[in-house]
Amino acid sequence: EKGKPLMLNPRTNKGMAFTLKERQILGIHGLLPSKIETQDTQAMRFQKNLKKMSDPLQKYIYLMGIQERNERLFYRVLMEDIEALMPIVYTPTVGLACTQYGHIFRRPKGLFISIKDQGHVRSILDNWPETTVKAVVVTDGERILGLGDLGVYGMGIPVGKLCLYTACAGIRPESCLPVCIDVGTDNEKLLRDPFYMGLYQRRDRSQRYDDLIDEFMEAVVDKYGQDTLIQFEDFGNHNAFRFLKKYREKFCTFNDDIQGTASVALAGLLAARRVVGKPITEHKVLFLGAGEAALGIANLIVMAMMEAGMSQAEARKKIWMFDKYGLLVKTDSNQEAFVHPDPGEVKSFLDAVNVIKPSAIIGVAGAGRLFSHDVIRAMGSLNEHPIIFALSNPTAKAECTAEDAYSLTQGRCLFASGSPFAPVSLEDGRILTPGQGNNAYIFPGVALAVILSGVRHISDTVFLEAAKTLADQLTDEELSQGRLYPPLSNIREVSLQMAIKVMQYVYSKGMAFRYPEPVDKEAYVRSVVWNINYDSFLPEIYDWPGEEVQDI
Ligand code: NAP
Ligand code: MN
Repeated sequence: EKGKPLMLNPRTNKGMAFTLKERQILGIHGLLPSKIETQDTQAMRFQKNLKKMSDPLQKYIYLMGIQERNERLFYRVLMEDIEALMPIVYTPTVGLACTQYGHIFRRPKGLFISIKDQGHVRSILDNWPETTVKAVVVTDGERILGLGDLGVYGMGIPVGKLCLYTACAGIRPESCLPVCIDVGTDNEKLLRDPFYMGLYQRRDRSQRYDDLIDEFMEAVVDKYGQDTLIQFEDFGNHNAFRFLKKYREKFCTFNDDIQGTASVALAGLLAARRVVGKPITEHKVLFLGAGEAALGIANLIVMAMMEAGMSQAEARKKIWMFDKYGLLVKTDSNQEAFVHPDPGEVKSFLDAVNVIKPSAIIGVAGAGRLFSHDVIRAMGSLNEHPIIFALSNPTAKAECTAEDAYSLTQGRCLFASGSPFAPVSLEDGRILTPGQGNNAYIFPGVALAVILSGVRHISDTVFLEAAKTLADQLTDEELSQGRLYPPLSNIREVSLQMAIKVMQYVYSKGMAFRYPEPVDKEAYVRSVVWNINYDSFLPEIYDWPGEEVQDI
């Protein structure tokens, strides 16, 4: 490409950072103001404007606008202030942006495949201009964060997740493909919304839906190769488990809501262990919610307990679940492992806490503030250091606030939430920084390792390994500030370290198929990650050796 199209393509555009020579050679001189700007100045301009905005949704729209114009500058701005901007491109603001998707829409991002396109998925995929896709994040919009069915408005999630693939793990943006599968929506409000952008029909839950997903999976590997990573995101509970089971041995795939969440929650427990001083096998965990996240986390905790020498049956006895209908004492096929004899006398979650006496409660119900003051107080009287994880997203769905958790336990609890909460000052003068137990700590690093090592199937042990490496990266000093995860400002380094460790793991276990195996994985990872420096558009100009070339 030459000339104006280079400026219009966000992947090549440098804005006023095109040099004088580039402007002349590319034929765009005069199309820009005369100043040649550095990326530093460009980034400063955007940061300054962002700081002036107080409305998170406005910031989201502004940031997405930069991404549409100058991709490297977008990632530069995002990475420079990731702690402040991650809550914008990701939870919680991305949730708000999804609910408003059709209203704030500027330009489409990602690939839309509808049930009406059945039989033609491959030709839609051929319309995607990139040839080197390595990672796909796909949703069908049925369970967006804790917000429920948002249909195609859910596209904001794959787009946001893949921004973090690049920002956190340096995966090239052109290697990332966000996909939304449109099979309708059961959201009444959207079906009446004149700005809704998907099919105005109820969700197709017939065999045709399964056939469409099958066709999609086949089309992706047919076009981009068998080792293309396919991350399932925000599917409804029933489908999430079915597809994971169906595809995990056949494709390079994982479900972030089940497995990514599991890994980040386990990392939090492993870190908390350093304060509580009890081995993982001595914990008793009570979940609020018994869905994708709860079962994923529970199964990974069982794996960690088994690694520490416990039998599977004993480990499962340590884990209880409380869902919409109360304590799980009856069975559903997915939850079977965590169904226990009825201890009696349990009518509320508070009763469950008092009867089961857990060392940790983990909220993943997506149903709002269900860790009441009484629940938190009960945890505080049962444990010296109660573990309280309010993981539901976005912020309004969190089971309790950081403030409540800390103040009602006199600062003794170990708290983590899925969406960020600000640090809390206690009466005794201590300031505690809540951990953000969010899978953003896991999926970028795991994805980078999977892509670089040519893993064919992603085993649960990979997520166990990822949890351990995440917990290991927390310093004692950070732990003493109340953190259970390293600061977000450090997430790039945390993700790269995770990728290095996971690569070492998958090669040592014979799960990696990319050869030759890089000897020095750290050097290798660092040499291949994408960065935000602009490319030069100058042609290579050189003389032939030993010849004095005369211009005639
Ligand atoms: P899910 O599969 O739909 O599970 C939700 C579970 O909560 C179901 O068992 C549901 O019971 C139960 N539930 C709903 N209302 C309840 C209530 N009032 N009391 C008790 N239980 C209730 O969803 P999920 O994928 O597990 O996600 C749940 C939440 O976790 C969402 O808010 C999501 O954003 C969050 N999450 C956070 C992270 C993170 O990184 N922090 C990652 C993944 C998910 P029924 O099945 O009977 O309705
Ligand atoms: Mn999710």
